[in-house]
Amino acid sequence: GRLKEGLSKTRDGFVSQLESLFRSYDKINEELYEDLEEILIQADVGVQTTMKLVDDIKEKAREEKIKDPNKLINILQDDILEMLNQTEEDDEQPTILMVVGVNGAGKTTTIGKIAQRAKQDDKDVLLAAGDTFRAAAIEQLEAWANKVGTEVISHQEGADSAAVAYDAVQSAKSKETDLLIVDTAGRLHTQSNLMDELEKVKRVIEKESGPMKVEVLLVLDATTGQNAVSQAKLFDEAVDVDGIALTKLDGTAKGGVVIAIREELGIPIRLIGVGEDLEDLQDFEPESFVDALFD
Ligand code: GDP
Repeated sequence: GRLKEGLSKTRDGFVSQLESLFRSYDKINEELYEDLEEILIQADVGVQTTMKLVDDIKEKAREEKIKDPNKLINILQDDILEMLNQTEEDDEQPTILMVVGVNGAGKTTTIGKIAQRAKQDDKDVLLAAGDTFRAAAIEQLEAWANKVGTEVISHQEGADSAAVAYDAVQSAKSKETDLLIVDTAGRLHTQSNLMDELEKVKRVIEKESGPMKVEVLLVLDATTGQNAVSQAKLFDEAVDVDGIALTKLDGTAKGGVVIAIREELGIPIRLIGVGEDLEDLQDFEPESFVDALFD
């Protein structure tokens, strides 16, 4: 299906490299493990997570007295699945979802998708145009609101985004909205200002949230590889990220970044993007993901 298709670069790059590595050895030795390490690191699995994976495979191969190198891929697959496992989201309580991420990562698309899906589930959705820095961002969000059939709270370009968030939360509470999605700025060139602004927006949201649950979703572009991991650390320090949407996995052969993000940050991945269409933004299910990669 779409998932498998969207992951084809990673399958052709990373996974088929793994398969040919295991095929090319007739016994398991240190050299094989070194080659394995190299492939994993190249696929953006990250050094730390690579070491952990390789150590674990070595140990299991020894314990289970495995002689055939081709069997190692099954251990690797199981280990990856174990690393990716996470608890499911509870979306019953009225929620304020603050969406953060740098410009171009796919924030607007992600917001549109989540709003559309919530509407389809008969939920009342409200959007807040918190990226007041760009007029285009406000317009894009309004376009989504029209398309999906939701209201949007917006101020003028240049307005205080915390004030937009404040108004939106008041409105969501008085209308008993099920889901308020707050867009935020994502300009990168003034990173410390951006983080200060996001912290302020989150403070306001939390202070005003009342009975609503507050969650932060970080949108990351998978094609930026290890940069996505460092970015996530910065955002997490500033606003305490609850979940990640990882977009543009179709654009990279280094899908191993999924594993690095999950393992190094310990933040659940909620959505993955595997193409330009709205249907290509899918719930992240570890099992289907690993199956789509390896089977
Ligand atoms: P924003 O600046 O963070 O709001 O990003 P947008 O939502 O406007 O997305 C930026 C671009 O990335 C748009 O052209 C999207 O169509 C594209 N995009 C978003 N997600 C994906 C994805 O999973 N795969 C691909 N190939 N493109 C995507």
